[in-house]
Amino acid sequence: MTKLISDDFHDDTIAIRGGYHRTPEKEHSEALFLTSSYVFDNCQAAAQYFSNGVEGNVYSRYTNPTVRAFEERLAALEGGEKAVATASGMAATLSVVMSLLRAGDHIVCSRDVFGSTISLMDNTIAKFGVTVTYVGLTDLQGWENALTPQTKMFFCETPSNPLLEIADISALSGLAKAAKCLLVVDNCLCTPALQKPLDWGADIVVHSATKYLDGQGRCLGGAVVGSKHLMEPVLAFLRCAGPTMSAFNAWVFLKGLETLNLRMRAHSASAMSLALWLQKQSGVVSVNYPGLESHLGHALARRQQSDFGGVLSFSVKGMRDAAWRFIDATKMLSLTANLGDAKSTIVHPATTTHGRLHEKQREVAGITENLIRLSVGLEHEADIKRDLQLGLDQI
Ligand SMILES: *Cc1c(COP(=O)(O)O)cnc(C)c1O
Repeated sequence: MTKLISDDFHDDTIAIRGGYHRTPEKEHSEALFLTSSYVFDNCQAAAQYFSNGVEGNVYSRYTNPTVRAFEERLAALEGGEKAVATASGMAATLSVVMSLLRAGDHIVCSRDVFGSTISLMDNTIAKFGVTVTYVGLTDLQGWENALTPQTKMFFCETPSNPLLEIADISALSGLAKAAKCLLVVDNCLCTPALQKPLDWGADIVVHSATKYLDGQGRCLGGAVVGSKHLMEPVLAFLRCAGPTMSAFNAWVFLKGLETLNLRMRAHSASAMSLALWLQKQSGVVSVNYPGLESHLGHALARRQQSDFGGVLSFSVKGMRDAAWRFIDATKMLSLTANLGDAKSTIVHPATTTHGRLHEKQREVAGITENLIRLSVGLEHEADIKRDLQLGLDQI
């Protein structure tokens, strides 16, 4: 994979300066192009654009300079040739499937992907004749067994949410390559600051920019990153189907990327410290965090990621009522399904993000009634701890 920016630059620098081409106004901060269309100099220029496919801005569903800057910066950070911005993370996944698969094709997907990803596969993609088999994220044999001659895509999310299981991306890539299918990795939880799936052999990365890329809970957005060759049909689908990123959101995400590396290091440091602390509390049965040596995916995460991220989950003594008492007793933590925010968030997965699953499915997925997910924000760690203590006092 060639980087759009010279390898001389470190990621911290690319995140701040990558992908932006100053306009003749010589603005220092990135310009926001709030325009739905662009003008041609004369009829001949317009005709050339439409007949010969001459490069240029025509309409913001096709191209927008602010969106392009976000795409180039993100591609450089992921080490991909090209990134294509989308209206949301779900639009990114939809675009990948709609543009690269056709009726009769088969997807193998890890079982504990984002809830809407499962709904999208089962309710929408299935209507177009693409079938899906779900397997355990870490069960390599399961992925292999699920292969059929029609399998064209592996889709996984690592670390998984809310149990933080870790997939071996290069092992999955080996299996996918042998079966001539594409490996798609949802890199939402780590972001390129902590993990670069393309370097480990993934073909495509999808993002919900809504989470850490923004990092401050303001906008919805997403992206698909990969080779120019693979991104061509994705871009073509987006341009005519329309779930593209708005210029305003792209501008917010550009600003988000500037602090991404800094934020991810801070999120990770606090999450590590809180995971160690939670582990010692008598009301806590177990803590899921890849930074803990007791975590099954610890060695793999250490190799594949540069840090362990800001999301952790833990189970408390008791059942649903204990978990609910815990969460309801906290005062500062935001009770919301979102994650990847400067504000710490807490949620009860079994009755919210994973509430649509049947009890049996939740059992298989390990989403127990006493499980709590925490997305560790950037508040002072002592204040997060004090809030969690209010919850622990209820157990
Ligand atoms: C939130 C999320 C998505 C969906 O992104 P939206 O921007 O909400 O559409 C996909 N994957 C993961 C892992 C997520 O957390």
